Amino acid sequence: MISIKGVHKSYQTGQNSLHVLKGIDLEIQQGEFVSIMGSSGSGKSTLLNILGILDNYDAGEYHLDNTLIQNMSEKKAARYRNDTLGFVFQSFNLISFKNAIENVALPLYYQGVKRKKRNAMALEYLAKFGLQDHGEHLPNQLSGGQKQRVAIARAIISKPKVILADEPTGALDTTSSYEVMEILKKINQEGITIIVVTHEHDIAEMTDKVIKLRDGIIEDIVINKKN
Ligand code: ADP
Ligand code: MG
Repeated sequence: MISIKGVHKSYQTGQNSLHVLKGIDLEIQQGEFVSIMGSSGSGKSTLLNILGILDNYDAGEYHLDNTLIQNMSEKKAARYRNDTLGFVFQSFNLISFKNAIENVALPLYYQGVKRKKRNAMALEYLAKFGLQDHGEHLPNQLSGGQKQRVAIARAIISKPKVILADEPTGALDTTSSYEVMEILKKINQEGITIIVVTHEHDIAEMTDKVIKLRDGIIEDIVINKKN
C-alpha cells in the first residue's frame, strides 16, 4: 500500500537548511495498524505530511497504492488525497459553525452528494461511534473525545484506503484517548490501513507495529504481538 525508499527531506529557512528526514525506508501493507513513534522534533509530522501528499520530499521514492508520488501538481495531489486518504489531526480541525452532521458530511458535499443523502450517511457514521444523539451539536458543545470521534467519522465517510492520524490523542485525557484508539482499531478491522503518529508509549502499544523514529532515522520497528 505504502512504499518509501531512501526518502530525505530538508527545510530551508533563510540561509539555514535543516535536514529532518535522513533516508527513510518503510513498507506498510494494506490493512496494517501502525504507529510512528518518536520524541518531539524527530520528524514524525514531516514524514506523515509526505505520506499524505501534503508536502514534497527531496530525494528517494514514495509509492502509494502502486503510484509514484513525486513532484505532483496540487490538483493531482488533491485527487489522490480525496480518493485514497483520510486525515485526523490533534486539533480536530472541525468547522466551528457547522454541526456534527454537517462536519461529517463535508467530504460528500465536495463529491456532489445531495444534502438529504449525505446527512443521512453522516448520521449513520456518527451512530457507529456512539454519537447518534449529538448530530445537531456544534463542535464547542462536544467534549474533546467526541470532537475527535466526529473528525474520524468525517475522515472515513469517503471510504479511504488509508487513515493518517497526527497525534490524534494529543489533546485528550487518558479515557478519551483510549476510546479514540479503540475506534481506530475497529476501523482497521474493517480493512482500512491506519497510521498513527504519537510520542506516547501507551498509545503506540495499542497498534500492531511501532516504527521508532529518532532524529530523522528509523531506529527500530517493533511488532506488538498481544494486540
Ligand atoms: P515531530 O512531528 O516529530 O515533532 P516535525 O516533523 O514536526 O517533528 O519537525 C521536525 C523538525 O523540522 C523540527 O526541528 C521542526 O522544527 C522542523 N520543521 C518542521 N516543519 C518545518 C517547516 N515547515 N519549516 C522549517 N522547519 C520545520
Ligand atoms: Mg508533530
